[in-house]
Amino acid sequence: MLNIQNNVKLATYTTFSIGGKAKYLVEAENLADIRQAVEIAKDKEVPLLIIGGGSNLLISDRDFEGLVIVNKLKGIKEIRERNSNEVLVTAKAGEVWDDLVKYTTKRNYWGLENLAYIPGTVGACPVQNIGAYGREIKDTFVSLEALNIEDLTLRTFYLKDCNFGYRSSIFKEGLKGKYIIVSVTFKLSLLPAPALDYGSLQEEINKEVVNINAEDVRLAVEKIRKSKLPEPKEFGNAGSFFKNPEISQEEFEKLKEKFPDIKYYDLPSGLVKVPAGWLIERAGWKGKDLGLAGVWHQQALIVVNKGGASFNDIKFLTKTIICEVKDKFGIELTPEVNIIE
Ligand SMILES: Cc1cc2nc3c(=O)[nH]c(=O)nc-3n(C[C@H](O)[C@H](O)[C@H](O)COP(=O)(O)OP(=O)(O)OC[C@H]3O[C@@H](n4cnc5c(N)ncnc54)[C@H](O)[C@@H]3O)c2cc1C
Repeated sequence: MLNIQNNVKLATYTTFSIGGKAKYLVEAENLADIRQAVEIAKDKEVPLLIIGGGSNLLISDRDFEGLVIVNKLKGIKEIRERNSNEVLVTAKAGEVWDDLVKYTTKRNYWGLENLAYIPGTVGACPVQNIGAYGREIKDTFVSLEALNIEDLTLRTFYLKDCNFGYRSSIFKEGLKGKYIIVSVTFKLSLLPAPALDYGSLQEEINKEVVNINAEDVRLAVEKIRKSKLPEPKEFGNAGSFFKNPEISQEEFEKLKEKFPDIKYYDLPSGLVKVPAGWLIERAGWKGKDLGLAGVWHQQALIVVNKGGASFNDIKFLTKTIICEVKDKFGIELTPEVNIIE
């Protein structure tokens, strides 16, 4: 029997530790649970919200008059064809992402190691095409299975169907709220395939390792991340709050005249990516607080709950930052975090 909980505090399901009560909440252990929960939401005519690890969500303190499905679907399997240098690994959506990374690197499968220590679940990783240290999940992604909320049928999405972009996919854009991802399949290499172009990762590896394997890279990434990022258990946060803006060459040239030390990356599209962290820092916000919300002292892209912050505290701080960056640089920052008002 499906266990429907009532009036559950969502703050305990988000890494920001912010969020009001959900009228109904189901921890779904299998596909049948998810289907049943969706049908209940339809019968009651209430909105649905899917949560994995709650690490990319900012949820209002107001009560959510709907049904929350927490994805707890577990299981990892692999297919390895004889004489192939690749392995297909399929994980259910409720697997903890970092557990999957460890599962693969311990077997010396290459492909996910740079994405170590990112919080959250496997099911959410395609939603914003998670990325770090020069890699994104689209680089190893093969397909995913998702449940259509409308008619409860399963559909397979291949790489070409997902419109993966920088921290985006079709599931964050055109098909937002239409599908529940139930499993994801990756193609990983059995031959060494390190991607160490990222400066600090290269340094860490050079310092410590001679014959490198995937687990070494995972450990190096974990070490760097632990030294820079706030642990959500200590300071609630959802990682990078904003996306790095992409601007035209003309806009960039004008900015460079005014700010010659501006940081940037040329993109293949011809656009120029400017690190939002640099803009926020130059606007004077790094390490600063506004009420109970603050900007992390080691990384200005991360907004933290300093203890007891409300949804409005975070909103107020982030809106202030958006206005000040706009005034100073003429660039409008957009949130990477999913905001549920
Ligand atoms: C300290 C910290 C560091 C981080 N570092 C990075 C980083 O380096 N790179 C990066 O890309 N991200 C990073 N993040 C953000 C976050 O970890 C990722 O976006 C992660 O994939 C979110 O997973 P989740 O399970 O917690 O998703 P949730 O926060 O639970 O959900 C995120 C969104 O996906 C939807 N969703 C969740 N599960 C499903 C599903 N099964 N089917 C359909 N929709 C679903 C939700 O409705 C919501 O809109 C970081 C976060 C923190 C707290």
